[in-house]
Amino acid sequence: MKKYQLMAPGPTPVPSQVLLAMAQPMIHHRTPEYEALFIEVRAGLKALFQTAQDVVPLTCSGTGAMEAAVVNTLSAGDTVALIQAGKFGERWTEIAKAYGLDVVLLTAPFGETVAPGRLAEALRTTPRIKAVLTQHSESSTGVLHDVRAYAEVARRTDAILIVDAVSSLGIADLAMDRWGIDVVIAGSQKGLMLPPGLAFCTLSEKAWAAARTSRLPRYYLDLTEERKFLLKNEARFTPAVSIVVGLREVLRMLAAEGLPNVFKRHDRLARATRAGVEALGLELFARATPSPALTAVAAPRGVNSEKIVAAYSETHNITIAGGQGEMKGQLFRLGHMGYAAEFDVVIALSALEQVLADLGLPVDFGASIRAAQKVFAEKH
Ligand SMILES: *Cc1c(COP(=O)(O)O)cnc(C)c1O
Repeated sequence: MKKYQLMAPGPTPVPSQVLLAMAQPMIHHRTPEYEALFIEVRAGLKALFQTAQDVVPLTCSGTGAMEAAVVNTLSAGDTVALIQAGKFGERWTEIAKAYGLDVVLLTAPFGETVAPGRLAEALRTTPRIKAVLTQHSESSTGVLHDVRAYAEVARRTDAILIVDAVSSLGIADLAMDRWGIDVVIAGSQKGLMLPPGLAFCTLSEKAWAAARTSRLPRYYLDLTEERKFLLKNEARFTPAVSIVVGLREVLRMLAAEGLPNVFKRHDRLARATRAGVEALGLELFARATPSPALTAVAAPRGVNSEKIVAAYSETHNITIAGGQGEMKGQLFRLGHMGYAAEFDVVIALSALEQVLADLGLPVDFGASIRAAQKVFAEKH
């Protein structure tokens, strides 16, 4: 028997109390029971998103919420600015092109970020830009973009700032209202430690105003229509009832831990993972601020990172992730978000030592664990 460990940057492990909650008999979504569930979930989501706005749940993966953000706030021919420094940034471009938007690309090499000054410059030279689209945590490179600084820039213009926070909500601080972010998107299967299937979209007053003039076609993902039901504590269509039941459990867990502690925990796990990886002589793929959700590690010289991913799986029954698209073979990614704690990092690192040794690389056994333990031993 080899115990299975899911250590990919999404989907992430689901806590057993959440699994048990979701295993209860199905309830109907047009009942007082569902209404009571939804009232609690609505309140919990506002706290989690750090906003006074209602968070609109959608039954789809995270990309569905990305598409919802675009089709509800923009019109064909509108110009948008895109922060593109990874595969998820490229997804924004693909969605924007699919809907006939004009795109001003602000690119950076994979592993880097786009300086807020470049966004300010783009908004100054192209004042017709209606929206700025970015990731918070770019999961393909392990970089955390400075969305707070982007918001500082965008809030002084007519443009709305749309942030894909699928791999940062409940992981890194993201103060939607305080920072002035207009749209925040999240999904169930990353920091929220739920199965895939739910996504979320939250709009500021500025974004709801944009929704009133937006002309892109939409039906299933029409947030204005969905909100009418939400205000009655209902869903417009059949929601993923079981995941909403699990979500109530997750929101209780996060509230009990306290959001600041949730962010601190992820920061410690990320710092320990980075320290461990570097103690083995490996390099981080991120050359900008690293994401606390995952650690992207550059493949050791002469080694295809797919071999490392395969060895984790075949030898140790641990799922991690490799590089996406052009980054395939160049990096591997260790997830430490959601239902993750200190000794999960120890497992990931000790397996890494064994994997590298199996691949014939010199390994100082224990070095990565020692480095991680030092981070954990720091006073918090
Ligand atoms: C996982 C993820 C998504 C959503 O992907 P889905 O497969 O559609 O759920 C979007 N953006 C980022 C940054 C992600 O990490």
